[in-house]
Amino acid sequence: MAHTVGIPSGTRSSLPKKSSEKIAVVQSALPDFDEYVEEIRGLWETKWLTNNGEKHQQLEEGLRSYMNVNNIALFTNGHLALEAAIEVLGLTGEVITTPFTFASTSHALVRKGLTPVYGDIRPDDYTLDATKLEKLITSKTSAIMPVHVYGNVCDVEAIEVIAKKHGLKVIYDAAHTFGVTVNGRGIGTFGDVSMFSFHATKVFHTIEGGALTFNDPELKERFERIKNFGITGPETVHEPGGNAKMNEFQAAMGLCNLRYVDETIAKRKVVRDAYDECLKEVPGIRLLKSQSGVETNHAYYPIVFTGDQNRRDELFQVFADAGIFTRKYFYPLVTDYEWIGNRYASQRTPVARSIAERVLTLPLYPDLALDDVKRICDILAERMMTT
Ligand SMILES: *Cc1c(COP(=O)(O)O)cnc(C)c1O
Repeated sequence: MAHTVGIPSGTRSSLPKKSSEKIAVVQSALPDFDEYVEEIRGLWETKWLTNNGEKHQQLEEGLRSYMNVNNIALFTNGHLALEAAIEVLGLTGEVITTPFTFASTSHALVRKGLTPVYGDIRPDDYTLDATKLEKLITSKTSAIMPVHVYGNVCDVEAIEVIAKKHGLKVIYDAAHTFGVTVNGRGIGTFGDVSMFSFHATKVFHTIEGGALTFNDPELKERFERIKNFGITGPETVHEPGGNAKMNEFQAAMGLCNLRYVDETIAKRKVVRDAYDECLKEVPGIRLLKSQSGVETNHAYYPIVFTGDQNRRDELFQVFADAGIFTRKYFYPLVTDYEWIGNRYASQRTPVARSIAERVLTLPLYPDLALDDVKRICDILAERMMTT
């Protein structure tokens, strides 16, 4: 696994649908083997394997429609898409973001020469707290980069008001929110740009992959250029772009997975509802609440241990001993990463710290057997009621 602070994926073959001894925290969805082979068969005739091929074009159109967005550009992964967005929007100086996220969000900023400034999160949905944003804005601030964490939607309206008032760009890390809508509107239409990850562990995937969605159609050409060395024609190179193109095999995986994504989200909901039902009476934990107007994708199932005593680490071990892999996701906070030292960690984010120390994400994937959900809930309930 490339992600050291990420989520390991299981494989379908080692994890049958029936309840199993060992339970992974996530499991990559795969189409039927023959269906994928059929999808890539034509590539042996055209021999067109990358650079905006037929599969790429089909996937782009399919996603634009499925995600309910105006414009989209595909990338080889979400992280490089994020770096491309930062570059094309021309961000400078400081960018306000959250420490409660995957490494990618802050790393993209730092790798592009920017200074992350950390705002705290809301205690109920773990997204950036818009009420605490304004005091972090300085003359060097160029943008806000919030994260729709776990499939929860940020306070998009409040963030838009603040951004407009101070002339700031907004780039959403929407890696967790594939297919999510707010009052019917695609989540990728908020802010200037939204980044989606199609990594193998995400709700929809292209093995590795990602996309930027945006409202301004003029950005399209610039994103396409930056991901292909800045090339504009056979003899013209406009700028020192890099390489972040999605290839045809990735796009073919996406075309197959897109056919089943509604089904996989529906199956995720069944698992989530089962958890909600059997955990609702368990003392000492807080479950994810649904947000009004939001159609979520049930990307993750985080629980937060409440009360004075932090039980998270104890339960993590109890589950591990029972062959059940949970994740302290997100822990540590980005501001506690070794490389950061005290370079950027001057702002205090007490809510984020408290959640990072108390959160545990339980296994959730479409084919997780309900018997396994029950076993997980029973272990948790027993521990929380007796000790
Ligand atoms: C997965 C993820 C990313 C990075 O996406 P990749 O496609 O793996 O590069 C960025 N931010 C968050 C919050 C993620 O979960």
